[in-house]
Amino acid sequence: MAEKSKAELLKEKLFINRENGLKKVEDPVWQKINDFCEGYKKFLADGKTEREAALAAIAIAEKAGFTPWCPDKAYKAGDKYYVNNRGKTVAFVVVGREKVDKGARITAAHIDSPRIDLKPNPLYEDTELALFKTHYYGGIKKYQWTAIPLALHGVFAKKDGSVVKVNIGEDEGDPKFVITDLLPHLAQEQYKRTLNEGVKGEELNILIGSRPFKDDKGSELVKLNIMAILNEKYGVTEEDFLSAELECVPAFKPCDIGLDRSLIGAYGHDDRVCAYPALMAITEVENPERTAVAILTDKEEIGSDGNTGLNSDFLKYVIRDLAELQGVDYTQALRASKCLSADVNAGLDPTFKDVMEAKNASKLNYGAVITKYTGSRGKAGTSDASAEYVAYVRNMLDAAGIAWQTGELGRVDLGGGGTVAMYIANLGVDVVDLGVPVLSMHAPFEVVAKFDVYETYRTMLEFCK
Ligand code: MN
Ligand code: MN
Repeated sequence: MAEKSKAELLKEKLFINRENGLKKVEDPVWQKINDFCEGYKKFLADGKTEREAALAAIAIAEKAGFTPWCPDKAYKAGDKYYVNNRGKTVAFVVVGREKVDKGARITAAHIDSPRIDLKPNPLYEDTELALFKTHYYGGIKKYQWTAIPLALHGVFAKKDGSVVKVNIGEDEGDPKFVITDLLPHLAQEQYKRTLNEGVKGEELNILIGSRPFKDDKGSELVKLNIMAILNEKYGVTEEDFLSAELECVPAFKPCDIGLDRSLIGAYGHDDRVCAYPALMAITEVENPERTAVAILTDKEEIGSDGNTGLNSDFLKYVIRDLAELQGVDYTQALRASKCLSADVNAGLDPTFKDVMEAKNASKLNYGAVITKYTGSRGKAGTSDASAEYVAYVRNMLDAAGIAWQTGELGRVDLGGGGTVAMYIANLGVDVVDLGVPVLSMHAPFEVVAKFDVYETYRTMLEFCK
């Protein structure tokens, strides 16, 4: 090999050098990455809603020795517990050898994803077909949700206090549901709409049946037949929809993408692709110096408000409860804590490169993405992580040999977004976003690279241990 020139050597020393991390991955490591991602695919399939993902996470954590938080228990270093907030947000805690006022290591990811919620009064019949009226949840391109198989997940909460779970469309042989779209032959007027209005919110109606109730006369017999089926299956009447949370999600199963199987396609990568690494990392932490907390939260996709979102006081109370138990100050605990807000970033898509600024775009297979700030229009609506804290994180990553990169969410003034980072920062915690680059974010079927999932998991483990 020719000797390197002075300029080449100096460039190596002085310039940023990022390369495709997958280039250096040998077969045994690739096998480990794939094994990890099989677990992730199962987690995705088991938890398509925040309630289901919370349950799936708790099941994994309980196997690793976590038990429900009990206020009367005298927790000591190394103990593992979880705090379940209404079955939608869960904090997993491993008590540190140092008391919590020395600071916790917090990872935070969200387990809600964009989807199609049923309206409180959804069921109707039109032209002898039965349908559900919906109100979409989170930022979606509405046209993407038509003409694909959908599954119905959620709960009916009845007046007697009982809660009935619903999950139709996932098992082999289950019926599925669909939002119909207009045929191209008759779409001349629809084509004139903007893409955003191509399918409107009130056009996201879900087809659920067509068979009339037999041997009777009257109107709405298709709706009646559907209601009779629901009554038989779940013991509900139409009134019970008023206190239900029913969510339509794509009925696709997670699968490998690509001839080389290097990618995963699935519904709900945002943000279970960060939740799963955070969860797996905390289940492997043993007797850490600092208390480790992994919080999997609801409501991020609609702004984090509400009592299961991270703009609530839930995280603060988790820290406060432990601090009080240990007889230390919880505000000091928060101020001394560090957090990785684990959320996805937009990966550079070769078909839509223009929306990115090349030097500050994240790429698939380049590892975990540090996103110093999100927001939009001049960094509004974000917590811009401090230089000092980013230095701490990149030093940790380099010392552990973890592949990482940085990214902004697209070009300046083109759009933007937010994460839970700012709500945690507002508690006084040092926080930066770090996660996995995604293609087709918020689509019914999103894509990530396995390598990036694994490097994000390694990051979480290094951060907590
Ligand atoms: Mn997200
Ligand atoms: Mn999102």
